[in-house]
Amino acid sequence: MEIDRIGVPGGGVLFYVGEKQLRITFWGVRGSRPIPGKDTVIFGGNTPCVTVEAGETLIILDAGTGISNLGDYLMETRGKVEAHLFVTHLHWDHIHGFPFFMPAYSPQSKLYLYGPGKMDRTFVSLMRGQMSYPYFPVLFENLKARIYLKDVAGHERLKIANDLQISTTNNNHPGGCLSYRIDYGDKSCCYFTDTEHYRQVDSNLKKLAEGADVMIYDSNFTDAEYEGFDKFDTKVGWGHSTWQEGIKLARSADVSQLVFFHHATHRTDRQLFQIEKEAQGLFKNCRAAAEGSTIIL
Ligand SMILES: [Zn+2]
Ligand SMILES: [Zn+2]
Repeated sequence: MEIDRIGVPGGGVLFYVGEKQLRITFWGVRGSRPIPGKDTVIFGGNTPCVTVEAGETLIILDAGTGISNLGDYLMETRGKVEAHLFVTHLHWDHIHGFPFFMPAYSPQSKLYLYGPGKMDRTFVSLMRGQMSYPYFPVLFENLKARIYLKDVAGHERLKIANDLQISTTNNNHPGGCLSYRIDYGDKSCCYFTDTEHYRQVDSNLKKLAEGADVMIYDSNFTDAEYEGFDKFDTKVGWGHSTWQEGIKLARSADVSQLVFFHHATHRTDRQLFQIEKEAQGLFKNCRAAAEGSTIIL
């Protein structure tokens, strides 16, 4: 396993990944809304977007504002973009970068979009809804790329290339959310964001994470914030988890590496370094996701 922390927003590098290798790159790691500023320079302020390159196949997880830097990078380096975008749910922080994803405007691009339908509306119509008047000047149907949309639900298994499978399960999140696991040969990566833990380890997530190489986990809160302390109210029912619960799940599912993700907007770089240090004392192979960092399996 090779780890490279560049720590510069938008500084991710996508280049050829050897056959049977998985390269995970973080383009946006923050929850709720983008938070640029002096306290988020190292870990980054963009909302969720992660790429997983499996051999020559490019998978994108979520379309938060991080996808905008990714799109510019792809246009600059590849021109012709073919990608599979998996959206966990339709909360703004997971889709509001899509209208600024330049490959969607290029007739050279071929994009496969997967995500959940909601409230009797298909995933297609929900994605269209974001790019419609009066919210945005360009209509979804006027995008130039060839775009294929597919509804997915929990407990599905999709094969998108040779030896490359995506499995799903349902999260505990207001309005619902999907978790994804990517298996490529004998390498695996789980993307579990926007999910609240239960008293016992979530059996759906445990089953999906079993033996995974990497688990990216919703660590929006600390245990103290979640429980509520001093003048702060409890965050029970908000649909998010803690880094401490991530460790419990990683242990019970026998995960090799744990990555804290969906950092709260108030979480400073200094606090994230402190969390990493404390967490590594309990579970050695863990880290806080940082924009521009990569993990190669
Ligand atoms: Zn979110
Ligand atoms: Zn959400």
